[in-house]
Amino acid sequence: MRKEYPFTHRYAAVLVFCTLLLLISPVAAAVFRQHERSLSMPPSLSTAQPVEQTTATPSSPVAPRHYRDRVLVLMYHHIDPREDPMTISPSRFSDQMDALQRGGYHVIGMDKLLDFAVDGEPVPDNAVVITFDDGYESFYRYAYPILKNHHFSATNFIIVKATDSPDPNALPHLTWAEMRQMREDGMRFGSHTYDLHHMAAVNASGLLQPALAHPIFLRGKGRVETEREYEERVRNDLALAQERLDAELGKQPRVLAFPYGAYNDTVVEIGRSLGIQLFFTVKEGFNRPKHTVLDRINAGTPTLTGDGLLDLLHRYDEPSPGVPASAGSDFVRAGPPM
Ligand SMILES: [Zn+2]
Repeated sequence: MRKEYPFTHRYAAVLVFCTLLLLISPVAAAVFRQHERSLSMPPSLSTAQPVEQTTATPSSPVAPRHYRDRVLVLMYHHIDPREDPMTISPSRFSDQMDALQRGGYHVIGMDKLLDFAVDGEPVPDNAVVITFDDGYESFYRYAYPILKNHHFSATNFIIVKATDSPDPNALPHLTWAEMRQMREDGMRFGSHTYDLHHMAAVNASGLLQPALAHPIFLRGKGRVETEREYEERVRNDLALAQERLDAELGKQPRVLAFPYGAYNDTVVEIGRSLGIQLFFTVKEGFNRPKHTVLDRINAGTPTLTGDGLLDLLHRYDEPSPGVPASAGSDFVRAGPPM
């Protein structure tokens, strides 16, 4: 039997988030175009030096140790000066990046995370990985210059079809050329499926579930997909996403973020058979060495200041010597409001 990781309230916030983004896409696209007209293009960044994968804290000679041999992964989606429940402003994002430096966190890139999660290679104390989902162009326009200023690397999980076949009425997505430019500065790009970032009916009455994680109802045939049909659909989609990423960007880390965080063992098995090495959920928690299905902390929420982010991350501080181990490092907390 396939072990399900069901679509529960845990994923509901992300679903609402993504659905709202889709609903406001035409409006947001218009707003974005207006910004395009009113603002100058981002300054050329092509002459800058490549970013370091790991960055020391310049302001504090001895960084505090919050935790060791663990990695926290942050999750963002969209960045825009006009904040809403699913969007944070460039200044808020910059404030959060400043806070990571100030707080003694060490941002590592996806390449280092792979070595840690797959092979158990060491990471610096207080290691943090920055990820974005959905591949919005705002990553290029707003996040990339800020990340470069901080010498931070980040990974964006792109919906590959949204780049291959852009929808003029949707929020703009990254182009391959933008990704190629950013790749040279240490940014990485993973899969958020080719075209399975949507909800689909899973029975005749139209119950909706994430299309990656469930056999769907075939209306023409009046039945649900067989296990074989489901597996073939998932395999074809994930394989096409990897093929396009490889063809356009060259060798990238083989990593997949589950849309809405929903997945099951079949998806992971198929992903592994295609060479995908790391998988990303939306469940909040620590990540240990040699664990390849990783949890993430949603930091892309407009209530979260830089100091608020530090407060959130401090929940994961290891207990001081003498504190009982039951307050240890392998717990899961409820996330911030999304
Ligand atoms: Zn998504």
